[in-house]
Amino acid sequence: MRMPLKLMTDLGRYMRSKRKAGEKYFPLVLMLEPLHACNLACIGCGRIVEYKDTIRDMLPLEEALGSAEECDAPIVSICGGEPLMYKHIVPLTKGLIEQQKRHVQICTNAILLERFVRQVPPSTFLSFNVHIDGMRETHDRVVDKQGVFDTCVKMIKMLKEKGYRVQTNTTVFRETTTEELEELIKMLAGLGVDGMLLTPGYHYQVLTNDDIYLKSDEMPFKFRRVRELSDHYKIINTPIYLDYLVGDRDLSCSPWTTVTRNPQGWKGPCYLITNGHYKTFKQLHEATDWEFYRTKQDFRCRDCKLHSGFEGTAALEFGKSVKDSWRMVRHYMF
Ligand code: SF4
Repeated sequence: MRMPLKLMTDLGRYMRSKRKAGEKYFPLVLMLEPLHACNLACIGCGRIVEYKDTIRDMLPLEEALGSAEECDAPIVSICGGEPLMYKHIVPLTKGLIEQQKRHVQICTNAILLERFVRQVPPSTFLSFNVHIDGMRETHDRVVDKQGVFDTCVKMIKMLKEKGYRVQTNTTVFRETTTEELEELIKMLAGLGVDGMLLTPGYHYQVLTNDDIYLKSDEMPFKFRRVRELSDHYKIINTPIYLDYLVGDRDLSCSPWTTVTRNPQGWKGPCYLITNGHYKTFKQLHEATDWEFYRTKQDFRCRDCKLHSGFEGTAALEFGKSVKDSWRMVRHYMF
């Protein structure tokens, strides 16, 4: 199975309850950024540019835990910045796991993992999402530091030996070849990773150099190969999202499915673009015209195929078409 059965059933139950209650714009994933500081400075990282003036700010532990309660999303992705640099990362992770209804994913560059796993044991509710953008030369160039690729490989092996669930997150840039993607996917499969997410690089509004990002017309070729490989390897992009990336179908965006909380507040309208930060989750909703962003009318939505917007749409599509639903079940269960 590419995704834990417990996560799939919890997500299905949550979505049914929201629909039964007549709610249309409910979150599936909370992107919890307790800090934006990082021990790397990757090319293409929008966060360290957008938040350079507040890079030392951190969410108090009570607010970080409270934001999960406030939006009540069943999946909490702790990201940043590098979340393992957050001084409350252990009580935050344990506190979320103890709620027994949140599936916690820690998105990390792997450098500080050894210290963390000494304090937090494996759990059905915990998985790691290790950032790895290519084979050794590419990854070390993207993160601008030699040796990080080797650290990732070592840490993935350690996590698997200790019994943790491990996923990887790979950003596909213009320079990434399909041959390298295939080599990476096979290498990660050999390490026993439980799932691989491959997404096009995000063009953050704060970044001026867009030469590294895939253009819309370059995406189909690279992701067609990813889609072929998804028949044989544990690629966790949904088949619907892969169809969108290769240009076989259009999708509307669902930015409300993935909401972002950071030390400045609730970031809106989406993970990628910023109109403002709101004090409460309710205020984010009141301030945002979700239909405007659902239909991609903002000029900043041009060329955007961000997984957090469109994978949410794919999840909401489940059950609407027998063919799509069967493809999703087959993809994740077998
Ligand atoms: S299309 Fe992209 S930029 Fe626009 S709302 Fe969706 S995720 Fe945000």
